This record gives sequence, C-alpha cells and structure tokens, in this order.
Amino acid sequence: MAGVKAFFNVTNKYFHLSTHTKSSNIIYRYISSTSSVPRDVDIVISGGGMVGAAMACALAHNEIFEKKKIILLEAAPERGKYILPENYTNRTCALSPATVRLLESFGAWDEIKEMRYQPVKRMQVWDACSDALITFNNEDLNDDLAYIVENDVILAAIMNRLNAAGDNVEIHYSTSATSYKFPGEIDDEGNKESWLTVNVSNGQSLRTDLLIGADGFRSSVREKSNFHTMNFDYKQMAVVATLHLSESVENTVAWQRFLKTGPIALLPLSANLSSLVWSTTPENARNLLIIPEDSFVDAVNDAFWNDNDKDPLTGRILESFSSILQNLLPVGAVSKQLPPTVIGVEEKSRAAFPLSLTHSSNYVKPRIALIGDAAHRIHPLAGQGVNLGFGDVSCLNEILTKAVGLGSDPGSLKHLLEYETKRQRHVIPVMATIDGLQRLYTTNFSPLVLLRSLGLHTTNSLHFIKNRIIRQASV
Ligand SMILES: Cc1cc2nc3c(=O)[nH]c(=O)nc-3n(C[C@H](O)[C@H](O)[C@H](O)COP(=O)(O)OP(=O)(O)OC[C@H]3O[C@@H](n4cnc5c(N)ncnc54)[C@H](O)[C@@H]3O)c2cc1C
Repeated sequence: MAGVKAFFNVTNKYFHLSTHTKSSNIIYRYISSTSSVPRDVDIVISGGGMVGAAMACALAHNEIFEKKKIILLEAAPERGKYILPENYTNRTCALSPATVRLLESFGAWDEIKEMRYQPVKRMQVWDACSDALITFNNEDLNDDLAYIVENDVILAAIMNRLNAAGDNVEIHYSTSATSYKFPGEIDDEGNKESWLTVNVSNGQSLRTDLLIGADGFRSSVREKSNFHTMNFDYKQMAVVATLHLSESVENTVAWQRFLKTGPIALLPLSANLSSLVWSTTPENARNLLIIPEDSFVDAVNDAFWNDNDKDPLTGRILESFSSILQNLLPVGAVSKQLPPTVIGVEEKSRAAFPLSLTHSSNYVKPRIALIGDAAHRIHPLAGQGVNLGFGDVSCLNEILTKAVGLGSDPGSLKHLLEYETKRQRHVIPVMATIDGLQRLYTTNFSPLVLLRSLGLHTTNSLHFIKNRIIRQASV
C-alpha cells in the first residue's frame, strides 16, 4: 500500500486514489460523503505500552520504513514531557542484556542511563522450606545479570527516541481501536476485502497492510480476531512497593525467597532503596495494602527472615547430601548471604496486580501479529515478561525488514509465520519453565520439597549449568 496516496473531494463526494506499489494497480474508490473515508496506512500498532512503543520506535529508526506510514494508537492520554520525579515509582522491570541491546539500537538505553537504573551483579534465590539456594554472579559474563529500571523511565526513554525520529510514525493518544474488518470479509460494495481495516474511537477508519496488536494481556486485537487463547489464573497477586533499606550499600544484589504462598523479591534501585515484588494470596495482598506502614515493613522482613516453614527432615537430608556433593565438586560450595533489612516503605508506593498466565496459540493471522503481553503473559517470578515482549519486537522488526526489503507484502502470512515460529520456539520453553517453578514452589508436600531442594542445591554446585541458565535468560 506504500506509494502515492491522495484524497480528493468532488462536489461533496470523496474519491480516494491510491497506487499500490506491488501490483501497480490504480484503484479508484468511490465513497459517499456520509461514510468515513478510510485512510491508507502501512502499519497500525494498537497499544503504546513499553512493547508497542518499542515496536514503533524500532520501525521509526529503520531506514527501510522511512517512506512508510505507521500509526501508533494508544488508549491513554498523552503524558506530556517526562520529568524524572525525585521519588522512585513503584513499577519496575528487570531488563535483560538482550533488551538493553534492542534499546541501544534506537538510542533509548542512553536516555535511560541519563535518567536512572541499577545494575544487578548478583542474584540469590532460596527456598523457605529448606536451606537450598542458588546464586548467580556476573563474574563469568561480559554483562551485568540484569538492570532494574522503572517502567515509566523505560517508556519515557522510548517515547523520547520515537519523537526524535522521522515523521513516518504518527502517535494518536486517547485513541483506541474499536472494531476491525478482517481480510476476506465482504465490504460495503460486496467485494472481498484484502486489507485489514481498523475503526478507531476518533471516527477514523485505517486501512492497513499490517495490524500489530501490542494492547496488553486483555488485547482486543487478540480477542476480536478470535485467536485461541489459554488463560490460567494463579490466584495470586503481586504486591509492589518502594522500600528503604537500613544502610547505604553498593546494593547490586537481587534477592528472591520462595515462600509457600509465592515468591518475594527485593530488587536494587539505589544505594538505600529497593523495589519489592511479593507474589502472594489475594487475601494477604489485600491485607498488605491496608496495614500500617510499620506493620508492612515487619511483614516484609519476616517473609525474608523467618524459619517457620522449614522442613526438618529435608534440612537433615540436604546437609548430608551437601557434604557428599562437596567431596565430589569441591568448587561448588556457596554460602548463603543475608538480605538487607528493610526499615521503611515509600508513602503511597504500595499497589497490587492480579497474576495470570495467558498464551495465544498463534501469534499471527493474515495481516495481524501479536507482540508482548497481547501474545503471552507470564508470572513475574523470573522477571522475563517485558523482556519476551522486547524479544518479539527485535524478531518482528528483523522479519518485516527482510520482507519489505524484498518488495514483499509485510502482512503476508508467509513472513508472519516465520515470526511466530521463531518466537514460540523461545517463548514457550521460558513460559513452561516459569510456570513449572511457580507450581513446584507453592507446595509444601515433603517429597517435593526434598526433591526441589536437592535439585536447587545440585544446580548451584554446577557452574556450567548455572552459566547456561544465565545465558539463556539474557537472550
Ligand atoms: C508486578 C509485576 C512485575 C513485573 N516485573 C517484570 C520484570 O522484572 N521484568 C520483566 O521483563 N517483566 C516484568 N513484568 C511484566 C511486564 O510488566 C509486562 O510484560 C509488560 O508491562 C507488558 O507490556 P506491553 O506493552 O506488552 O503491555 P501493556 O503494558 O499492558 O501495554 C498495553 C498498552 O496498550 C494500550 N491499549 C489497550 N487497549 C488498547 C486499544 N484497544 N487501543 C489502543 N491502545 C490500547 C494500553 O493503554 C497500554 O498502554 C512484571 C509484571 C508485573 C505485574
């Protein structure tokens, strides 16, 4: 659809002239003045969250798309110029080195560095039912393990780079896609549509080669185009908050403890601040939101420190197993470190989010591609959700570049299926592992506690396996 596009008005009737570069057909369409005139757009991205905005930014900085018209629809109003607040915000993400490489490719990582972020150089994950633990260090890597960045900072950095790019991307705020006419449907003149039309809340109709659904886990693109979707409610909520630590330290360690009711994680933000992500039962979450601040702080410290759930039998077996393992793998012993003490919670920083697993069986249909949470939503215990979404952006950008470079239709299923296959090969194993861990750690059935403790302890002693885990998590 790229090429000459013109709209003209003859005696109160609208004509639309479009030359289609691929077929070189000239299509004259007569549209009565009472109907809305469809506007031809090469790509429509529905949803300007972190993932949709990154998609728009990647295309805006891609010279193959220089002459294309791309529209980003975002239901929320424009935020205006972002001014970094003094206080940290409560929503953060652990970004992987692969995400950093994507953000670097269009300059957003430099923007983040100018605002704020905190590297993670070490991680310690341990079980509340035993002394089993696993640690990861950045020593064997060129990169840090991850980077903790506030969601607002990530989005602001991407939007700055999007606004600084050429004018091939238009951003329509306070605008949502309301309905869609999919390819193959019969149009008003009785002809079969070959494009996809997006009807937008401002009354416009956008006729496009490709609709990218980046509209989050309740995606209307996914629902209205009937993608088969699996949805599982974890019956947990993630409580987030910004916490004050007892002392200023280097604070580059991420701590996570698996409690019976779900994992609790402390992610470094600055020398004396950390971000809390505590997945727990909905009842406990509701309570944690309303109790006084000092009781909340006590509950957080207690969740990291108490030994109430320790299984004595598992403890004894693990001790014997540990000494055998140390004889076999003398380099493997790693001592447990203690997490910092929390002394306060930032006022009004507590919030809770329901957790679910959502997966669309397909990520593409003719002229449609789903990215980010619209395609897959996972438990936050491994901090991988948005990283998977950014992985979708890298992959789709690469495949669309190839398609458009060859003069091919970017909305054709041939190219989109390549995107789906590549992403599902990566996303499904990650999703299955995270879901498996979530289930394995929310049981206190002794044989399973023993098995997972022995497994964790052994994995911790095997450096080559740990390095593989780190490398897998960073691509
Ligand atoms: C507590 C918690 C902690 C997390 N921690 C991490 C972490 O450490 N690391 C990590 O990688 N991930 C993490 N995640 C996951 C991460 O937050 C999500 O994967 C990410 O926010 C998804 O981004 P998205 O852009 O795909 O969707 P969203 O953020 O949901 O954005 C969707 C956008 O689409 C817009 N929209 C919706 N409908 C329409 C419509 N019809 N038309 C136009 N616009 C529309 C919305 O306004 C919104 O801006 C965490 C999640 C939670 C809940």
